[in-house]
Amino acid sequence: MTAVTPTYAVKDYKSDLKPIWCPGCGDFSVLSSLTKAFAELQRAPETCAVVSGIGCSSRIPAYTNVYGFHGVHGRSLTAAAGLKLARPDLTVVVTGGDGDGFSIGGNHFLHACRRNVDMTYIVMDNQVYGMTKGQASPTTAPDWCSSKLTPEGTGISAIQPLQLALACGANFVARGFSGDPNHVAKLIVEAVNHPGFSFLQILSPCVTFRTEQRGWKDVVQKDKIAAATSNVAEALAILAEDDGVATGILYAGKRAPFQPNNKASSDLDRIERKFVA
Ligand code: SF4
Ligand code: MG
Repeated sequence: MTAVTPTYAVKDYKSDLKPIWCPGCGDFSVLSSLTKAFAELQRAPETCAVVSGIGCSSRIPAYTNVYGFHGVHGRSLTAAAGLKLARPDLTVVVTGGDGDGFSIGGNHFLHACRRNVDMTYIVMDNQVYGMTKGQASPTTAPDWCSSKLTPEGTGISAIQPLQLALACGANFVARGFSGDPNHVAKLIVEAVNHPGFSFLQILSPCVTFRTEQRGWKDVVQKDKIAAATSNVAEALAILAEDDGVATGILYAGKRAPFQPNNKASSDLDRIERKFVA
């Protein structure tokens, strides 16, 4: 049997812009995983969109050759949900960091999980605000005291993104590590193919403000979370033993994706027609 030649290659999803991240930043790898995943999915570039907020990792739309939207801080999920509902034919991927997603955009994250619009959210988690020079973020440990703003640590417990996503109803939940780009690409493919809201926490070192994260490569345990369950209680039980560095697919739920209210859209059509007339 003759092998079918793929229509699109990884290079078709890359833009000509050169990323301006610090050398060694984990986000380089995540970008490469994303373009690899698009090629694996073989979706035409003009049928894909990458949406982001603000931050180092939110620069990703500029580096891809699909439709892109670089929005305002913490509002990527709202823009992406609107896009997906207006254009359900598009593959919508949202990218950003832990500050953008869990602090400024924290409220939107809860409701995006709950609403379950069919899109994929990739958070590059480095437990710090990188772009604004190293402040503690919602996923920073309470005793991290390398920031001048919090010389004695924040004293506040870090939020647990996977638990939060599960509790709020995300339909697919997984963790990856930027140091393993092939595995991350595989997770992205699975996440995009899974119906509903898919959430990926990607441990992505900030080599400038969290230099100790260079050591993640020695402690991350690939596919330790090996058995995806569709039972939230089981997934939460796995997380009760979580060390924060185990990767893999934790949860793949069966909830139907959100569908727009047809009555509302027909009302909108009527109002639009009235204005046109
Ligand atoms: Fe990456 Fe940190 Fe540099 Fe931002 S500041 S580009 S997160 S290494
Ligand atoms: Mg960050």
